[in-house]
Amino acid sequence: MPRVFIKTVFHNIRFKCLRCGTCCHHKRPEEFGDLVPLERLKEFWEKSNLIYMTAKDIENISRESGLEPCDFVDTLYGYGGKIVHVDDSGKRIILDFPVMKSKADTTCVFYDNGCTIYSVRPKACRLFPFRVEEETTQQGDIILNISCNKSCPGINKGKIADKKSLEKLVVQQFQERSESVATEVRILAQEGKISSDARVYRSHPGRKLQSDSI
Ligand code: SF4
Ligand code: SF4
Repeated sequence: MPRVFIKTVFHNIRFKCLRCGTCCHHKRPEEFGDLVPLERLKEFWEKSNLIYMTAKDIENISRESGLEPCDFVDTLYGYGGKIVHVDDSGKRIILDFPVMKSKADTTCVFYDNGCTIYSVRPKACRLFPFRVEEETTQQGDIILNISCNKSCPGINKGKIADKKSLEKLVVQQFQERSESVATEVRILAQEGKISSDARVYRSHPGRKLQSDSI
């Protein structure tokens, strides 16, 4: 079993949300197609601004808003609670993590001069402007690097960010996501659906179709 470590890539950073709404505008960089190879993931994260959701986030929003997941969730494949897909005779493993849909003007479908689902907003929104970049060591261990998105005007304002609360959210998000991925990969491998030379990609959902309303 790989070990998981958390590393905070900043020291005593101050933050106060100025409610400017910048983080509710989602960026989908056009130079990336539907699939993002892992070696370009860092570049993708730097250029994009997508809100990734766990199954628990989706369940909470659905219950609170009365909407179906298909009304606010974007995935490359149809969303049915499954994250791992294989393609090209098992040579491509695609991790299709669900992201929040955006309107045509790139704002979140729940943005209307502020967040309309604030009490159940996804963990990624609670974390922002902090974000997690996963790194795998040569030994196969996983490092969750918590960095921050410098585009947020609330950085260096207000109080020192509470690292303990950030780490708690990151652990929760990682556990909710990785448990389902590990189970799905194990089943696909047992069924012989993954080739020994398979490459892993992340999806870039919602690139072509962006809805105007929910
Ligand atoms: S970009 Fe920063 S300051 Fe603006 S709403 Fe988001 S978290 Fe708050
Ligand atoms: S869920 Fe709320 S906080 Fe998150 S991106 Fe949408 S409007 Fe913004």
